[in-house]
Amino acid sequence: MQVLSLESGATIKESTYPGKLIIFTGPSGVGKGSLMRSLLERHPELYYSVSVTTRPPRPGEINGKDYYFISRSKFEQLVGKREFLEWAEFAGNYYGTPREPVEKQIREGKSVVLEIELEGARQIRATFPSTLSIFILPPSFKELEKRIRGRAKDSEEAISIRLRRAQAEIHAANEFDIQIVNDDFETALNSIEATLFG
Ligand code: 5GP
Repeated sequence: MQVLSLESGATIKESTYPGKLIIFTGPSGVGKGSLMRSLLERHPELYYSVSVTTRPPRPGEINGKDYYFISRSKFEQLVGKREFLEWAEFAGNYYGTPREPVEKQIREGKSVVLEIELEGARQIRATFPSTLSIFILPPSFKELEKRIRGRAKDSEEAISIRLRRAQAEIHAANEFDIQIVNDDFETALNSIEATLFG
């Protein structure tokens, strides 16, 4: 039996709790966000962890729903106080998973969904080895580039940083338990559901 030790000093026995951690990773622009939104609409019993970031909000993004948007200095303070379950720098901004709400949900037996990049996923898998990790792949790199450019919300510099990072992330896809190609949205969503719920 595996025991998860928590920063708070409490411990939880994984086998005693039905709640588990599920990570979704995949390159920027692969469509993870849309897949997550549909998955959560269909399965409100899942708890989605809202991340903290120093990236400025994109048009339409809502503080507390899409992310908690904070300054770099505040983020660094929270890192110092060990308030994150994991955190990483991505394309010049910090991103982190708030520790307390996730631990609370797991203790209460809920399954928690994290949508995070590769470095954070590695940290989570090292801390919680029984995490179910899913990597979302694009049908091709060309198609991914088209989607990233099509969003047209980021600067050319940000786009090229994201493309380089995407290449590195795709190379790591086989570290994950499951890989799902997001070619057709419904097919990808059904594969995710089949993986999670059988
Ligand atoms: P975006 O700026 O496009 O919203 O996100 C950039 C990348 O950061 C995406 O790959 C996204 O999955 C990842 N990300 C979002 N929240 C977190 C987090 O809390 N931790 C980590 N490590 N990555 C995150």
